[in-house]
Amino acid sequence: MSETMLSAEEAEPPGSAAPAPVFFKPSPPSSDSPPSTFPFPLQLQSPPRPARTVPRLLISARSQAFRQRFFPDATAREWNDWRWQNSHRIRTVEALARIIRLSADESEAIRRHRGPLPVGIGPYYASLLDEADPRQGLRRTVVPATAEYRRLPGEFEDPLGEDAHSPVPGLVHRYPDRVLFLATGICSTYCRYCTRSRLVGATGEKSVKKSQLEQAIAYIEATPQIRDVLISGGDPLSLDDDRLDWLLGRLRRIPHVEFLRIGSKMPVVLPQRVTPALGRVLKRHKPWLSLHFTHPDELTPEVAEACGRLADAGLPLGSQTVLLKGVNDEVDILRRLFQGLLRIRVKPYYLYQCDPVAGSAHFHTSVDKGLEILRGLRGHTTGYAIPTYVVDAPGGGGKIPLLPDYVAGREGDDLLLENYAGRIYRYPDPNGCLGADKTVLSERSSCA
Ligand code: SF4
Repeated sequence: MSETMLSAEEAEPPGSAAPAPVFFKPSPPSSDSPPSTFPFPLQLQSPPRPARTVPRLLISARSQAFRQRFFPDATAREWNDWRWQNSHRIRTVEALARIIRLSADESEAIRRHRGPLPVGIGPYYASLLDEADPRQGLRRTVVPATAEYRRLPGEFEDPLGEDAHSPVPGLVHRYPDRVLFLATGICSTYCRYCTRSRLVGATGEKSVKKSQLEQAIAYIEATPQIRDVLISGGDPLSLDDDRLDWLLGRLRRIPHVEFLRIGSKMPVVLPQRVTPALGRVLKRHKPWLSLHFTHPDELTPEVAEACGRLADAGLPLGSQTVLLKGVNDEVDILRRLFQGLLRIRVKPYYLYQCDPVAGSAHFHTSVDKGLEILRGLRGHTTGYAIPTYVVDAPGGGGKIPLLPDYVAGREGDDLLLENYAGRIYRYPDPNGCLGADKTVLSERSSCA
């Protein structure tokens, strides 16, 4: 498909588009100083209200065709409004069946669903789904399957043991100098393999109370060894600009907090969220961003523009990818993803072995598969395009990195190493013992 672009203004000049539908109380424009009061609470409100400012954002030809086909009443301006995207998420079997041909298994899985990790797919992200093929990678990550309801030995509702290390609600403090701040339970699109499937979307998408956020902030203030705060959830970018500004501002004012991170999938599933106003908020507080990419199909013109805006704001961007069976467990798929990420200035940071979260067995590969993929990348692409492959040890053991074994053995003082092409090279290593335990090549080694 040709990727001709248009922006909201090019499609419909300002003033010609219908006012955006009203779902939330409007926020005052962001200023350059952090708000002193908590912008709270979120309120439903009836029309009429002033139209929101919607920035110039690209709409790819694919999105444009999808919008005209499935949301013909939506203006380009509405399409580019992240709140419109959120409020038009596809959440029922009937709504999804309008867009893709659901398999019997998918339909049953959606109908059976109760509790957390609801179905929720934004219109933009739905435009990337294959209409006919239930095996398409992206489709499997957001459309439930009945395999979710199977529970196998070795699976856990809380695979990383986070709940046991929570000194106050919404805060996980496992390592002395770092905390995980769960600032929201809301996501714009719900991933079927989510490690926090027990939590996300569990409260009917109500915002976290101010008192809970204050309690977590007070704990961090009172614990001087905490130097690193990872804000996650849910998706922290589901907070509006003022709330995010407030939260980041409060954390930035704590003298011992020197490193702030935000974990988010929103620039990937809802790139319209990355407005210039959000860029200004983030630029002011300078967090690092850990983005969650899964597949090269996510590397759209819209996502490239969103990441470009974040990079231009000076924010370091890294990506975390979960290795998922039948979704991205091929060298070629992950090479295209990681190389594509470099093109949009995102460093592939971690490749995660899928956590043994309850109901996720259908997404699990063997660890051998992860190592095979790493071997297929190292030496075959730019080093920057290769993430660290980790297993997050169940029960809270932390991230354990895994590498293919390139040590072939030892001959006397020479360490024998295998390169990416399978050739053996000698490295003079007179004081070492590495490789001494390997095969016939170690027989002449002096190491015990
Ligand atoms: S965006 Fe993150 S927190 Fe939300 S469902 Fe996906 S993996 Fe879970």
